[in-house]
Amino acid sequence: MDLPSYISLYPPINYPHVRGNGKNTRDQFCKLKEKQDCKANTPAHAAYAGIVSVIAQRIFACSWYTSLKKGVNKTMNNTNDVASIQATLKNAGVEVTPEQINEKFQQLLEFKVTGPEAKRNVLRSLAFAAGIEMNSLYQNGETVPVTIGEIRPGMRVELRAKVVQLWDSTSDKIAQTGLIGDSTGVIKFTIWENSEKELLEEGASYRITGASISSYNDKCQLNINKNTTITQLEEEVEVKAQEEEFTGAIVSIQNGSGLIKRCPECNRQLKKGVCGEHGKVDGTYDLRIKAVIDNGIEVRELILDAEQTCALTGISLDKAKEMATEAMDASVVEAEITEMTLGRFYTVTGSPMSRYTLVKAMAPKVPTLVADSAAISAELEAI
Ligand SMILES: [Zn+2]
Repeated sequence: MDLPSYISLYPPINYPHVRGNGKNTRDQFCKLKEKQDCKANTPAHAAYAGIVSVIAQRIFACSWYTSLKKGVNKTMNNTNDVASIQATLKNAGVEVTPEQINEKFQQLLEFKVTGPEAKRNVLRSLAFAAGIEMNSLYQNGETVPVTIGEIRPGMRVELRAKVVQLWDSTSDKIAQTGLIGDSTGVIKFTIWENSEKELLEEGASYRITGASISSYNDKCQLNINKNTTITQLEEEVEVKAQEEEFTGAIVSIQNGSGLIKRCPECNRQLKKGVCGEHGKVDGTYDLRIKAVIDNGIEVRELILDAEQTCALTGISLDKAKEMATEAMDASVVEAEITEMTLGRFYTVTGSPMSRYTLVKAMAPKVPTLVADSAAISAELEAI
């Protein structure tokens, strides 16, 4: 017999930590859920879907509670953060009370934002309220202690990391480039020639303070310049395995998926035919998927290149161009990909690169529940 789809395992949830797309995700869910409810047209289907949904909500509530508890412990330990935020703002001529700072931390806790990310958010929002640019705070020497997984463009960071790989430099402006990693991921680093820094050793671990983060092709890059301090560490920093397997449901297909155009000079995605760096250019077509996958406890942001997109959906770059030409609208490709993948389970193998996991293999996954579902359905029908 037909089984109800497992979309009902995933009730509409907002993901505040997934950039910008929370509402989108929820909308996509609501649409899918409506469809699904129509399909659940026998009592057994409906009852079964209901049960699965209740179980899923329990799992969600449980993981929410655990992270909330962790968050509470972290807030209790943030006295240093409060003092440091107060001092940084005072440097910039802004007076705030510890109560005001703590109130912001509490608000973030409700969105499960804790640790260095919370500190940065609190600083940013209080600075913004006082009409001060976050970057000017950083220029005053404020760096944010982070793990590589928390790194975002525009930050000035302090981190402990191990040199995983050294690459050949492609430019005489670059003294050294390669990959550094910690327990949350790896990131490309560049030591600029004019920084006059000593080169790093492969396999050695360092504390790097005051490095700036830029973004290139959706990937973050750590820049070591004149104002960066590097200290070699005695201890070895543990590095996250460079490939991981993750199983979950696709909960969002993000903007910028499907058929896109890239700048022929720098490969950046064009926005309305315009490159942020090179202005209006004649772009080249590319195909990709940016997706969020969720296992009920954690999420990963995935990037699939043209080859992986084709392997997953059967849509090749040529097919995507045909679809766009026929519909006279490139967005049909993203819509088709969303229709095919949203709410479905997959097992993904990929390498984490700062916030994204670059997908190397991805296959549909049938949840283990299916083994018992025939029995459950039979029981339900007997009721
Ligand atoms: Zn460009």
